[in-house]
Amino acid sequence: MILVAKPQLDEAEIEAVSDVLRSGMIAQGQRVADFEQAFAEYNGVEHAVAVNSGTAALHAALLAHGIGKGDEVITSPFSFIATANAVLFTGATPVFADIEPETFNIDPDLMAEKIGPRTKAIMPVHLYGHPAEMDAIREIAEDRHLLLIEDACQSHGATFGGKKVGSFGTGAFSFYPTKNMTTSEGGMLTTNSKDVAEKARMIRAHGSAQRYLHEMLGYNLRMTDICAAIGLVQLQKLDRYTVQRQQNAESLTKGLQDVENITCPTVRNGCGHVFHQYTVRTTRRDDLAAYLNDKGIGTGIHYPIPIHRQPYYQDLGYTDSMPISEKASREVLSLPVHPQLAEEDINHIISSIKEWSGKR
Ligand SMILES: *Cc1c(COP(=O)(O)O)cnc(C)c1O
Repeated sequence: MILVAKPQLDEAEIEAVSDVLRSGMIAQGQRVADFEQAFAEYNGVEHAVAVNSGTAALHAALLAHGIGKGDEVITSPFSFIATANAVLFTGATPVFADIEPETFNIDPDLMAEKIGPRTKAIMPVHLYGHPAEMDAIREIAEDRHLLLIEDACQSHGATFGGKKVGSFGTGAFSFYPTKNMTTSEGGMLTTNSKDVAEKARMIRAHGSAQRYLHEMLGYNLRMTDICAAIGLVQLQKLDRYTVQRQQNAESLTKGLQDVENITCPTVRNGCGHVFHQYTVRTTRRDDLAAYLNDKGIGTGIHYPIPIHRQPYYQDLGYTDSMPISEKASREVLSLPVHPQLAEEDINHIISSIKEWSGKR
């Protein structure tokens, strides 16, 4: 089976973890501090704060900006549920704006239409590794005096106009095993604000900067040195992985661009797409997925139900329709693009899809 996602782990990660275990210092310590510094440098930001998931990074980012009850945060309905749940967990209300059909990212014009008196922040998601339209989004944030929080959980190393995502506002990254780099579970908040970084560090540790002195409400969001040791190794390999993803994507597009009823992903001018997912569109999505499964090719649907259509959000009263997201959720199919694919795997994917297309 050609898997749709596969973490790239080898002896270097095993050694790094073993070193931590042998040291006996396995909670948050020096490795976490080193990982934060390396990740901040990589992204061109002043501060990085390590936490134990991407969800925690989003949650801490919102809290550190003072977002809570009575506030609205505008975000994309076409994302993993964590994006909106993090907003709900602060007591604030997620407000959805529909996406652009080409990039699957939030549409800046539709986003602007949703701004109201209670809007406090806008939170684009850089979905599949393709940056959201950050010129327009940053302009909206500046003109309307809104906080900018980026869900960069799928876009480690992606760039917009040469600048890394997660450095435009406050960024949140995930290191879940399927992401472009992993720490097993883990996450990171990135920011140029000293105040936001300090608050996030406190939120991570029950609201304390000094042991047993609790100045605000926080939680335990800490990363372990075991995870950070993996992250330090993975970060060094990230650019190499990204190039492999981009080359795989290029080969897939070359083979699939003329296939009937398949729309390949596009890359906008000025954008560095890191292909967390290589996601095609087809009106016969479920049929294609089943066909590829029979050929030993794993696929993924990101995402089959947009957030506003999830049962819990329906219970909350989200009744607006988001037609572009809803159509996308019926048509998207992610193909394997990870760095461990061999050339014959890619050829097998392409020829299988051509075969499928020819039969129907
Ligand atoms: C993975 C992901 C998250 C959550 O990250 P976890 O580490 O799984 O908590 C949030 N948003 C998006 C877009 C993601 O892909």
